[in-house]
This record gives sequence, C-alpha cells and structure tokens, in this order.
Amino acid sequence: MHLIHYILICKRLKSFDLISIDLKVIEKQDEKITIKFNNVPRQYINALRRLSISEVPTFAIDDVVILENSSVMHDEAVAHRLGLIPLRTDLKKFSLPNECNCNSTLGCTNCRVLLQLDAEATDKTKTITTAELISEDDFVKPVSQDIPIITLAPSQKIKFEAYARLGLGKDHAKWQPATISVVKYGENENEIYLTIESNGALTAEEIIIAAAEKLNASIKNFGETISSVNRTLTNV
Ligand SMILES: [Zn+2]
Repeated sequence: MHLIHYILICKRLKSFDLISIDLKVIEKQDEKITIKFNNVPRQYINALRRLSISEVPTFAIDDVVILENSSVMHDEAVAHRLGLIPLRTDLKKFSLPNECNCNSTLGCTNCRVLLQLDAEATDKTKTITTAELISEDDFVKPVSQDIPIITLAPSQKIKFEAYARLGLGKDHAKWQPATISVVKYGENENEIYLTIESNGALTAEEIIIAAAEKLNASIKNFGETISSVNRTLTNV
C-alpha cells in the first residue's frame, strides 16, 4: 500500500493520466522485489530503476584511521576493502552529511557511525572477518558476519577506527543499495516488470519506496519551476 501511495502522487505531472495506474507486486522478499506495471509510461519505471541505483542513500565506510597494521596489506588496501562492506542502513534515524544540522566535516551521531576493530593472530594464521568489526550503533552493522577483511600471520596485528556515512550511488558505487535494478517488458506491450535486488543494506521494498519518494520530489520540483516560469512570462 505504501508503494501504491507514493507512486500515485506522481499524477501531479498532468501530461500523463496516472490516476488509472495499475501495479501488482509479483514477488517480495527482503532482498528482492518484482513489480508488474500496467499502462504506466515507461519513463517513470525507468526513472525508478535509475533512482534505485543512484539516489537512495546507504551507509558505507568513508574514513579509516589505522592505529596499527603489521599485516602484509597496505593501509590504503585495507581502507578500500572496508568501504565495500555493505552495512545495514536506517534511513529514518540518520541524515546525509550535507543535510545534517551539525554542519561539521567530522559529523555527529546523526550522520556518522563509528566501527572499530582490534585483532591479532597469536600462534597461527587467522582470517579476520566482519564478525570482529564492532559498531557503536545497534542497527548499522555489516549485513554478514562472514565477510573476510584481512588474513594475519602469527604475531601480526591490526587496529583501526572506521567512520561510516550515508552516501549516494551516483557519487561512488560503494553507496549503491541495489545490486540489480532491471526493467523488462511483458508479452503484452503495456506490461512492464521492475525487479530490484538489494545488497542487504536496505530491503528491496525500502529501496523502491525511497526511489518513489525521490521521483515524487523531483516531479514536484519540476512542476514548481514550470509554474514560476509561467508566472514570470505572464507578468512580462
Ligand atoms: Zn551530523
């Protein structure tokens, strides 16, 4: 119902008749959703597909302070690997850094989450996984405990502080919440299927709803711009 509500708002764009919008959720799991649209302009569905990849915020590690690293992996390589770990994301609690009231480059508890790791291999080689990455937030954590971060030989040690922030896929692929976002045409020309698969940071449903909200905001913005241009031209 959520989704239908948001997409219905799109009817503000008056050149299309979206009042008769017809959509059905064909498949819905946490990590995958498929929706069938009937008689909906394909531009809208393609916009949802693109927004799902590029404009829905997710958490990713963005800044790493290495305190100790006696492994064979360089600090930069460790930081790069950390950036690619999908983190569960809470969009209600946190803000994008540039939209946060703190106005600080360091961030605050509303726009940044600290994750720490302090690990050592003692008598034998040890693979350090995301299970040892401790987050200060109960929700924003790696989506899996089994992602390898680094392998340490006996007596090697690694210790760091990593800061995760919300970001957008259009700025860096590490902030893309959707691993798959595709549009397919049905047998009937008027049927279009949109499938979203999530990397686990958000559910597939959360991604599509956030994308629909973005689309709605863009359309509203566009409508207001056109209205203001019309008013200006009328007053000339
Ligand atoms: Zn902040």
